[in-house]
Amino acid sequence: MHEGVPQLIRKQPPACCVVCGGRLLARQLADAQQSGNAYPACETVACRMIVSRRGEMSEAGFKHYLQIEASQTQWRLARAELMREKIRVEAQENAAAWAALRLKLKRANQDSSLSLLLPSGPPHARKLTQQRRHAYRDHLAKIIAEALSGPGPGPEPVAATNVAPLTKPSESSLPGRLCAFCGGGCCTRGGERAYLSAATMRRVLAAQPDLASAGALIEAYMAMLPAKSQTGSCINHGPQGCSLSREMRSDICNNYACEALARLQHAQRHAAAPPQTVLLLRRSRDNWQLPSVGPDNAIKAAAVMSEEGGVKRFAVAALLGSKPAL
Ligand code: SF4
Ligand code: SF4
Ligand SMILES: [Zn+2]
Repeated sequence: MHEGVPQLIRKQPPACCVVCGGRLLARQLADAQQSGNAYPACETVACRMIVSRRGEMSEAGFKHYLQIEASQTQWRLARAELMREKIRVEAQENAAAWAALRLKLKRANQDSSLSLLLPSGPPHARKLTQQRRHAYRDHLAKIIAEALSGPGPGPEPVAATNVAPLTKPSESSLPGRLCAFCGGGCCTRGGERAYLSAATMRRVLAAQPDLASAGALIEAYMAMLPAKSQTGSCINHGPQGCSLSREMRSDICNNYACEALARLQHAQRHAAAPPQTVLLLRRSRDNWQLPSVGPDNAIKAAAVMSEEGGVKRFAVAALLGSKPAL
């Protein structure tokens, strides 16, 4: 401090909220300066609640508490900001890639096309371990015993999100090919239970009375296991997709629709002109990691899929390098 410069009698309160680090309004800052409040907080309820505990603790105890709460709050806010930025950048990249794909379409298909973003199923398969087989067998034994001793058929549990029960199988080839292009991005939480429950077993038993013994039903399921399962995915998720027949799958598996599939089904049922062409982008994460801050979620594949013309793939680098107008 230079001589002649008057010393501040009272330490100035910080100009930012002591919890979240956000800038205080002029009025809040003036109030804090006037009252000499060393711990001003913004108007967020959570920040105010943390500061309101000042009276319950010693100065040192409160400082320690505040340090922990402030660092957690600021970490959460920084993460949320990162997430917003990531979503913005990915959306911009998706728009550029879809625009480039649209340029590949014949004019007649441009109006009836639908742009969809897909997750990815795990790309690698590995031989099924005995440990996984045993865990699956144990689960089957448990739910079959429950089904055989239970009160009778009841509804199967339903997945929490995006369930769109299919009243009749779609005649379109697009939904099936969409899931094939994705590679089972929603199957990664199937584990060794595959969403199978006592209710599924009751349904299967009602449809196939010849499987009436527990042992026969267990062996019927064990026989359907693939030799290799996709790494980190459901035990029934093999390189060619789900190894169970539709009849043997749970209602959850039969009815689940991720956002992309739900949008396609909705357009097919309700649009005046159902889409004939779908512009597909596939990002590298699975269905349950989207959106989340973390490593790579690059666009792994791009394609134009049509009812008549199959799936035509395009190199992602060339597509994004062509810099179409957004
Ligand atoms: S429902 Fe969605 S996430 Fe699941 S396989 Fe089909 S496209 Fe992939
Ligand atoms: S049973 Fe089939 S559809 Fe269901 S999660 Fe497993 S692999 Fe996916
Ligand atoms: Zn705050």
